[in-house]
Amino acid sequence: MNFQKPVIIAGGGPGGLTLALLLHQRGIPVKVYEAVQELKPLGVGINLLPHSVRVFHDLGLQETLVANGVETSTLHFCNKFGKKIKSEPRGIRAGYNYPQVSIHRGFFQMLLYREVIERLGPDAVVTGHSLESWQDTADGVEVTLRTADGDRITVEGSCLIAADGINSTARAILYPDEGEPLYSGYLLWRFTTTDIPYFDGSTMVMGGHYDQKWVCYPITKPDADGRALMNWIAELKVPDWKQLDQNWTNEVSKEVFDGPFREWEDWGWLNVAKVIDSAEAFYQYPMTDRDPLPRWTHGNMTLLGDAAHPMYPIGSNGASQAVLDAECLADALVKNDSIPVALEAYEAIRRPATSKIVHANRGEGPDIILQIVEDRAPNGFENIEDVISAEELESISSRYKKTAGFDLKQVNRSS
Ligand SMILES: Cc1cc2nc3c(=O)[nH]c(=O)nc-3n(C[C@H](O)[C@H](O)[C@H](O)COP(=O)(O)OP(=O)(O)OC[C@H]3O[C@@H](n4cnc5c(N)ncnc54)[C@H](O)[C@@H]3O)c2cc1C
Repeated sequence: MNFQKPVIIAGGGPGGLTLALLLHQRGIPVKVYEAVQELKPLGVGINLLPHSVRVFHDLGLQETLVANGVETSTLHFCNKFGKKIKSEPRGIRAGYNYPQVSIHRGFFQMLLYREVIERLGPDAVVTGHSLESWQDTADGVEVTLRTADGDRITVEGSCLIAADGINSTARAILYPDEGEPLYSGYLLWRFTTTDIPYFDGSTMVMGGHYDQKWVCYPITKPDADGRALMNWIAELKVPDWKQLDQNWTNEVSKEVFDGPFREWEDWGWLNVAKVIDSAEAFYQYPMTDRDPLPRWTHGNMTLLGDAAHPMYPIGSNGASQAVLDAECLADALVKNDSIPVALEAYEAIRRPATSKIVHANRGEGPDIILQIVEDRAPNGFENIEDVISAEELESISSRYKKTAGFDLKQVNRSS
């Protein structure tokens, strides 16, 4: 295809910025419009699974990611007493050709932003411009954006890719009756500390059970004093929560959630109550998703990343799936002769794949292991084999990996 006009991306999050890099790599002109005036390193930890790290390898960014994050070695499951249920190797240790990387979301987004500016030029990302509406034209789209001071501007592009996150304006225009994201009944509190890491300094832990869960992983390598930036997530079942504020930076005090976690005894290798006491800022987030959509593509526009398929953040998949969308879409724009056909081809691959993960994360995410063990052994166990067999553990884990597209054979085959 001959791109006379740029691909317009609304949203400079990980999904939109990765797409910009991939389109540029394929020689396709692109322009990103981001709502906020200044991109800041917001958020805490995020995980990139091996299949999405492959995309950054191809962009020449794998080394930088690994240098500034942590190559996750292990996913460790434990019960509420801190007793090991299962440890599974991850990334290279598990035989993948690419690592799994745990990293600060803010660092990751700023890295992508810097790379876009460096490779595409300083005008490639326009901040303080919020997508408001669009319409198809004979040869592309006309997109209306609202600037920070309330003015409206119209720009022309070959197509519009709405990568504007869970509260997507584009999605709300396409599906005006959809309403707020769907609350799962669980609230998350996310925070960081600088600490001596537990275990080998590169292990992700999921502990407890559905009603009271603890997830943690380091997101930097240890400094000269042996301290690393640690990402902690406390999760509680709060079924009747009404304030579905989808704000990732909603700060609350620890008293809102710490009570039940203080009742947990010291795990020996980690004291959850002490960790909470050493943190300074706690960000509350209601765990939400949205039902998979019947259609993402409408003429010369489509949805990507969280705008298309917001999912519960329980399988380390939020960012990875946005990255895989970006790769699939960039390839489709190269391989097909017309924009609508390319967008439909992208959707035909990515919509069914991500819909499955949205559903899996609602019930059969990797953390289902925790609940099975809690149900069968609420007072703890001596030998895990008396509670759940190694075969059952393995089949749960491999089923999820297949659904999320990071089954070892699948990933290494597509390398
Ligand atoms: C501030 C913030 C903090 C986050 N923190 C975490 C975290 O700590 N851990 C985690 O697992 N996930 C976090 N997430 C979610 C995670 O980034 C996404 O699940 C994942 O990376 C998918 O990325 P995305 O680009 O599709 O969406 P997002 O990361 O949500 O990016 C969407 C981008 O679009 C912009 N935008 C919104 N509306 C418009 C509009 N109308 N026009 C133009 N631009 C618009 C937003 O400002 C944002 O930059 C966070 C998201 C945000 C926005």
